[in-house]
Amino acid sequence: MADILRAVKGMNDILPPGIDVPRGEKLPDSTIWQWFENVVRSVLTRYGYKNMLTPIVEPTALFVRGLGEVTDIVEKEMYSFVDSMNGDKLTLRPEATAGIVRAMVEYNALYNGPLRLWTMGPMFRHEKQQKGRYRQFHQLDVEALGFAGPDVDGEIILLVRSLLRELGLVEGKHVRLELNSLGQPGERRAHRDALVAYFEQHQDALDEDSRRRLHSNPLRILDTKNPTMQALVEAAPKLMDFLGEASLAHFNGVRAILDAAGLEYRINTRLVRGMDYYNLTVFEWVTDQLGSQGTVCGGGRYDGLIEQLGGKSAPAVGFGLGIERLLLLIQEIGLPVPSAAPVAYAIVTSAAAAPQAMVVLEKLRAAGVSVLMHAGGGKMKTQFKRADDSGARFALIFGEDEVARGEVSLKDLRNADAPQRSLPLSGAAGWAADLLNA
Ligand code: ATP
Ligand code: MG
Repeated sequence: MADILRAVKGMNDILPPGIDVPRGEKLPDSTIWQWFENVVRSVLTRYGYKNMLTPIVEPTALFVRGLGEVTDIVEKEMYSFVDSMNGDKLTLRPEATAGIVRAMVEYNALYNGPLRLWTMGPMFRHEKQQKGRYRQFHQLDVEALGFAGPDVDGEIILLVRSLLRELGLVEGKHVRLELNSLGQPGERRAHRDALVAYFEQHQDALDEDSRRRLHSNPLRILDTKNPTMQALVEAAPKLMDFLGEASLAHFNGVRAILDAAGLEYRINTRLVRGMDYYNLTVFEWVTDQLGSQGTVCGGGRYDGLIEQLGGKSAPAVGFGLGIERLLLLIQEIGLPVPSAAPVAYAIVTSAAAAPQAMVVLEKLRAAGVSVLMHAGGGKMKTQFKRADDSGARFALIFGEDEVARGEVSLKDLRNADAPQRSLPLSGAAGWAADLLNA
């Protein structure tokens, strides 16, 4: 036998339910993904956001220019390669915002007014793989382009809450919101100067990464995960103390919306986010129940990005939500997920009965009933076992005798006391509703 080929490390299959993976982590199956995607579509539609899709491969320059050269992503996480056919420098997208902005600038789409957009799909980052951290992962990405806020900032934060609630997650219990303001570039520069001066005074306490960043990107030092530096970072000058009147008014505007909506949040002055393009509002939805990969959603305002990518200056706000992390959380706390089981399983005991049975099944499906057909024949007992394993509520038994009488037998697989019924083959559209409403 030939060798088995395996998936690339850190890149996972999303499997249908019922397949055991002997090694490694049990990841949410496709049933929970489909449910999530349906809830996403429904919620985003209710908020008036329009779906779009961008290519998975983009010019490397888009991310270098968009995300900033001294970010974790651009420095060490991008899957970049040279197209051997023409020498183009390309990158598998590590995030979705840059691609959406690139597209809207390319088509001058903001000319007719602001846009509310969303997309969903795979992202790629060459990271150390662990629970909740993969090399291919998926994001829901929501962007509101051309709005200055703070009303839209509030809207997208509330949109996340309503998505989380619809999935069964409760804020305060399973997830919570952290909020900060990064101010404007001038305010950040003043804060940055103060930070550099502070960290220069404490050079000896900095780790190698931080020393390297001291002059290139001192803000990112605040983002360090190194425990020995926490006290130092805690006592560093706070950006909040450098915000001017307009920035504070924006921040208070967002807070007023969240307060009125009864959404509790924690102001986390250490929240800086990984990308350089953020200003004013930044936020994260976090959980304590996924270990160190606790951020399920992160976003904020990026008023400078559209211009930076060649467009006419326009404000914008958005977020990326890590789908794997969110679904792991749902799995971890055992929230109920709608079942993927069919309503009925069709047992077909003779090949001669199959054509007529399938005509009936077509009618049932057209009427909205999900029916799984036992294909390929086999003993009645085996077919009943499959019916049971499928999770179906009912078995429809198309036996030779029944079909000859123009009938099919209906058996309730989840209630042994319920009597078996005979139903007319010709009237399937009529009794389909009984199955649906049972
Ligand atoms: P982290 O600090 O965990 O590395 P990040 O700041 O790099 O996160 P963002 O770029 O803001 O993450 O992406 C938004 C969301 O996407 C994150 O909050 C997280 O839920 C998810 N995410 C980011 N990187 C990964 C990954 N490698 N694997 C799985 N999910 C991820
Ligand atoms: Mg990261």
